[in-house]
Amino acid sequence: MKQSKMLIPTKKEAPSDAEVLSHIMMARAGYIYQISAGVWSYLPMAYRVIRKIEGIIREEMDNIDACEMQIPSMLPAEMWQQTGRYEAYGDNLYKFSDRNERKFVLGPTDEEPVTSILRDSIKSYKKLPLVVYQITDKFRDEGRPRFGVLRGKEFSMYDGYSFSADQAGLDEAYDNQAKAYRAIFDRIGLDYKVILADSGTIGGDNSQEFSAPAEVGEDVIVYTDGGYAANIEKASAKFTGVQQTDAPEELEKVATPGAHSVDEAAQALGVEPSQVIKTMLYLAKTGEEVQPVLVLMRGNDEVNETKVTNALDCDDIELASDDDAQKYLNAHPGSLGPVGVSEDIKVLADEYVKVMVNMACGANEDGFHYINANLDRDIRVDEFGDFRNVKEGELAPDGYPIKFTNGIEIGHIFKLGTGYSKTLGAQVLDENGRLVDMIMGCYGIGVTRLLSAVAEQNADENGLVWPQAIAPFDIHVIPTNVKKEEQVAMANEIEKQLTSAGYEVLVDDRKERAGVKFADSDLIGIPVRVTVGKKADEGIVEVKLRKTGENIEVKQEELVNTIQILLKQLSGSTDDNE
Ligand code: ATP
Ligand code: MG
Repeated sequence: MKQSKMLIPTKKEAPSDAEVLSHIMMARAGYIYQISAGVWSYLPMAYRVIRKIEGIIREEMDNIDACEMQIPSMLPAEMWQQTGRYEAYGDNLYKFSDRNERKFVLGPTDEEPVTSILRDSIKSYKKLPLVVYQITDKFRDEGRPRFGVLRGKEFSMYDGYSFSADQAGLDEAYDNQAKAYRAIFDRIGLDYKVILADSGTIGGDNSQEFSAPAEVGEDVIVYTDGGYAANIEKASAKFTGVQQTDAPEELEKVATPGAHSVDEAAQALGVEPSQVIKTMLYLAKTGEEVQPVLVLMRGNDEVNETKVTNALDCDDIELASDDDAQKYLNAHPGSLGPVGVSEDIKVLADEYVKVMVNMACGANEDGFHYINANLDRDIRVDEFGDFRNVKEGELAPDGYPIKFTNGIEIGHIFKLGTGYSKTLGAQVLDENGRLVDMIMGCYGIGVTRLLSAVAEQNADENGLVWPQAIAPFDIHVIPTNVKKEEQVAMANEIEKQLTSAGYEVLVDDRKERAGVKFADSDLIGIPVRVTVGKKADEGIVEVKLRKTGENIEVKQEELVNTIQILLKQLSGSTDDNE
């Protein structure tokens, strides 16, 4: 392919709103074009990368007998109303009406339609287990689309769904997907971690995320050298609390003018922040029902809202507003405390509170705190549990110290169970002729997000660096001066030679200065560069690896061999995932 025929609009400057390396470089390298906030066009180079990623996904899904299909993006609202997600999905769901006022949504994920299709297509357990998937655009009205194609409002997703008649079938499909995911991300050449994720009230280890460590990642990955890995919502640590043994003293209300935060209160009272009880008021929502809940923890701990939501078995929790705090406790959120609260308010406390005596806490009165508050006598707790975020250095369940890193969620696998098949009536006859709900799993990979993840991990200050498996081309051939006929002739010959050896080749035949060509070549990030320059008449070219900068002179007849060896070395150096 000749570069003069390609649309690769490289730029010296990135758009002003590009904050992260992957966005800056993909925009500068002419890969992506923003049509509107969070809505992107993939220009020819990016599109080639996407097609390669899709190709790898298809091959690995073929290997586990998953079958590809396509579900439309516009979906009737009824099926979403039936499962309750028409409301529950929230603001991210795009809703619209057709000319006859029929309501539709744009699919953000496709459990509803796929369950409906399988319900109407399969009647017997004999057809199960069955795994279907698609690679299509999904639509989510993200509140903060950002970081280029990392978080878009329209993005390409692989989404797979497994259906089985029994638990064993689900387990097998889930394990197969996990295996296929590993194969896919290994082949792409990403550094990634497989982490335990929260699976809501279903409990158990029914959900895993695949996450690519990167500074810009929005998720906190908790991991250890022993192999434990979980996202922060799910992660737990060994309980190491020790019962405090001081004798309980008398409860006392103390003036603490202007002290609203834990640290201000600790300072005013002359105690450690860890001896102050952080008191957070939440509203737990289940359907229309709203339950006020106080969550207590040590002042130096952070509430883990996922753990709280799971313990309450509710749809969702929301931090109380100033008005709510006034309504339920007659105080501002910065002055809340658990002493003497009404029975209408449920009180959850972190397990570390259980071993404390003589605690400090807000007095539900601005400008005052209690000291020497004690459990039972002063504070009613309905349920103790692990309600906090773990911290770096604590011991994980595997006994190793916890470390943190940021990660980009690139994929997710989830044992769904029978929720959707029940509400949408997707049953089959089992071996004994009884109707049973199909047991489902759902699986997702962010295809376009993968471009950002790979770029974040591999790009450098000069531009993109693609692993060969998904590079838009394998080899970039650059005649430095196209006015020299022997260079042009040699470049064309090399193109033929390399193409027939099975490589995808881009020839920079543009009438540009060598410096411009090299800078653009670094920017677009093809793994191997072959420069046809001054030594063309001696039959010698220069081969340079984009990733390492390694640079050697090679005779034309040895070119194919040399490139083969170099590329093998390159792919070997990225095969180190756990
Ligand atoms: P996130 O927590 O990042 O919003 P999610 O958990 O909502 O993602 P899933 O519903 O699990 O995402 O979707 C499957 C995959 O689709 C994710 O693992 C991610 O790689 C990708 N994805 C999700 N939202 C977006 C988005 N707005 N833009 C690009 N890719 C996305
Ligand atoms: Mg997810």
